[in-house]
Amino acid sequence: MKFTDSAVIGGLDGYLLRFVEDNGVGHTHPLSRVLQAFPPGGYRALHPVQRKRFVDELLRAVENGGGLSETPVKRPAKPIREPAKVLEMPKRKPAAVAVKPSGEPARILGTVDSPVSVLKGVNRGIEEKFAKLNPPVRTVRQLLYHFPSRYHDYSEMRPIAQLEFGEEQTVVGTVFSVSTNAFGRYRKGTEAVISDKSGTIRVMWWGQTYVARRLKQGQKVALSGKVSAFRNRMQMENPEIEELDEDTMSSRRLVPVYPSTEGLFQKTLRGFIKDAVDAFADRLSEPLPDDLRKRNKLMAIGQAVRQVHSPESHEKAEAARHRFGFEELLYIEIGVVRRRNEAQSGGGAPVLALPADARKGFVESLPFSLTGAQSRAIDDVLGDISDETPMTRLLEGDVGSGKTVVAAAALIAAVHSGFQGAIMAPTEILAEQHFRTFVSLLDSKKDEAPVEGPWFQASGSGYLVLETPYMPQPVRIALLTGSLKASEKSAVQDAIANGEVDIVVGTHALVQQGVEFARLGLAVIDEQHRFGVEQRAKLREKGGSPHVLVMTATPIPRTLALTVYGDLDITVLNEMPPGRPKVKTFRVLPYRRQEAFEFVEKKVQEGRQAFIICPLVEESESIEAKAAVTEYERLSRDVFLHLRLGLLHGRMASGEKDDVMRSFRDHEIDILVSTAVVEVGVDVPNATVMLIEGADRFGLSQLHQFRGRVRRSQEQGFCFLLSENPSPESEERLAIMETTDDGFELAEEDLRIRGPGEYFGTRQSGMPDLRVAQLTDVELIQATREEATRLLREDPELSAADHAAIGERVRELWSRVTSEVS
Ligand code: ADP
Ligand code: MG
Repeated sequence: MKFTDSAVIGGLDGYLLRFVEDNGVGHTHPLSRVLQAFPPGGYRALHPVQRKRFVDELLRAVENGGGLSETPVKRPAKPIREPAKVLEMPKRKPAAVAVKPSGEPARILGTVDSPVSVLKGVNRGIEEKFAKLNPPVRTVRQLLYHFPSRYHDYSEMRPIAQLEFGEEQTVVGTVFSVSTNAFGRYRKGTEAVISDKSGTIRVMWWGQTYVARRLKQGQKVALSGKVSAFRNRMQMENPEIEELDEDTMSSRRLVPVYPSTEGLFQKTLRGFIKDAVDAFADRLSEPLPDDLRKRNKLMAIGQAVRQVHSPESHEKAEAARHRFGFEELLYIEIGVVRRRNEAQSGGGAPVLALPADARKGFVESLPFSLTGAQSRAIDDVLGDISDETPMTRLLEGDVGSGKTVVAAAALIAAVHSGFQGAIMAPTEILAEQHFRTFVSLLDSKKDEAPVEGPWFQASGSGYLVLETPYMPQPVRIALLTGSLKASEKSAVQDAIANGEVDIVVGTHALVQQGVEFARLGLAVIDEQHRFGVEQRAKLREKGGSPHVLVMTATPIPRTLALTVYGDLDITVLNEMPPGRPKVKTFRVLPYRRQEAFEFVEKKVQEGRQAFIICPLVEESESIEAKAAVTEYERLSRDVFLHLRLGLLHGRMASGEKDDVMRSFRDHEIDILVSTAVVEVGVDVPNATVMLIEGADRFGLSQLHQFRGRVRRSQEQGFCFLLSENPSPESEERLAIMETTDDGFELAEEDLRIRGPGEYFGTRQSGMPDLRVAQLTDVELIQATREEATRLLREDPELSAADHAAIGERVRELWSRVTSEVS
């Protein structure tokens, strides 16, 4: 014999243990005695010389036929403090789960809405810890809704002999020995040997001597943790312990793992949740009507609560989650569909129309021909506004896809029908840009129009009067922004109020107090990145029930279109005007930054302009501004010494920002250094280079919008994506930018990688947070939307007996959101 531990799979000790167990060898049998004296780490841990001695000992024991060996096996490692007396399987306990902190059967007074302290064993300390969970748990119901984040799957555990180094794994075995040990002077811990039929493994809990009190010899445990190497042998360090008995093993092969908080053990959570489930799961009332549940194959609530906490199978766990996800999204969809119904219910919107010859006149007056997508969008919009149901449409299209013309068509329809139209932009400079655009689109004598100069003085009256041949009368148009002089502002306001002006272009000033429309028929909100529920509501207050068109350059994935934007109809401009080459996009590694700068310089020498976007600084706007100032100074001093640089950041006053943008537009600045917080939505066709620092920190959608700024002419645009230390994942993400020009694809990718919270802060979006459901699950969202629509059609107030519970939940959920948003 060579004692190389190669003869028996799983090690000699494993073999012997199996032998002892299978043959019912009593604990006084010499074999057992020898095995009890087993060294930590098992047979395999021994040096061949020690192995030989061990085997000799073993043989002697067997030969003695029950006689006790006088000389016990010398242990190579530290002695095990409590030498084993017995090696027997624990007796079956009546309770199915060993982890229950109180062995008592649950007999609990209280309701699901009682505080958790009604559960036996929940003291102040536990209560405080529960309150620290996210979201906090204070009532039994909240505890029942504290769902596992995952499950340990004991059906997929490995025999000890098949464990692999370096992986997280779960083993189930018997505690063979356990002791607290001092390893050197200061390192204390618990050391145990766990065995199953295939072998043994040494387990260390560093610094956790209390583990020794938890584990008992002969106890069956499941350990989950990483397997490391110790002197070339496998060992587990600080694994999570699951105390099991046979029943647990057979009845609970999926053990829940809960989101926890400091000092709150899984065992504790599991125990109390188990108690709560046992006592209360069947006392939960079912909010979903039977037919709805049947139609959508949803588990009943009691069963779902039980299956989510201790599932019989992965499928059951999934089905339980599906039920809760469905419920969650249903409440959201009810709110969304209701919001939509309310917006449209008042009716009473003016009927607006653009007669065919006027439309033709408008289209023919344009300096370009419309894209197919633009024509279709105009059809959609004109269709919407042609009846009394107020339009709530979202027009989305990449930067440069030509949304303004669509808005113009809608606005002249309003004017043609004798109503006023308004368009609201997020910044003064954008409002100004729109004003100029509209004047040039609508004015047949545009060459003479005083668009560049101070239009106000030119008009004298607060508005310009444009000769527009296809319109029945001249079109009167005004610009209302915060920077008008008080006297000018009141002149414009008067003209709006007494109906002298037909089209008003403006900023938020438009929805401020003091602005009253004589007969507002249509409001357009441009560059709407956020939900803007509030703004829309305010606009609506401005006069009866106008039609509303919201425009955005943010591509909205289908799932969000059904939820976050679910109360809007959506039209997509999925076609760029011809002759706009795609922006050539390149990732730039740090060591080639200089080359990118040289490229920028070269383009500027050729007469072009460039944007440089500073990295996103999460901490605060002021730190971000500071970083931008530093970058601007560095670039001016060290890199682009002879070029004219401008700086734009969120800490600048809005007047300052507009001045900088104006200088850039008028080519008094070559390179605009800007933070991401600043909307650079202004049209500067001469800008053809976009350099984005810290590109890996931005969402793909956002990067796509940035680069859209250099795709506004026939000139080839260039976009450089720089990142200091990109991770392989972000490299991969950025690589998509090089090849993909499809905003929707990028948005979906964003949503997949970063989640909706990143994509649209739920706070701004006016959406409740989701706990179970995923905003990426199109089918689920569609199904819940259908149910929501059906429910509200049958019972708009949700007042029927079997809808009352749903109504209550919806009210509760949305009142929380509304109070946060406003
Ligand atoms: P955005 O969708 O970003 O608001 P704009 O409406 O500002 O886009 O249009 C971008 C530019 O494209 C403008 O200069 C506009 O005159 C021009 N444009 C719009 N539609 C067309 C078209 N069908 N053909 C050519 N150029 C167009
Ligand atoms: Mg625009």
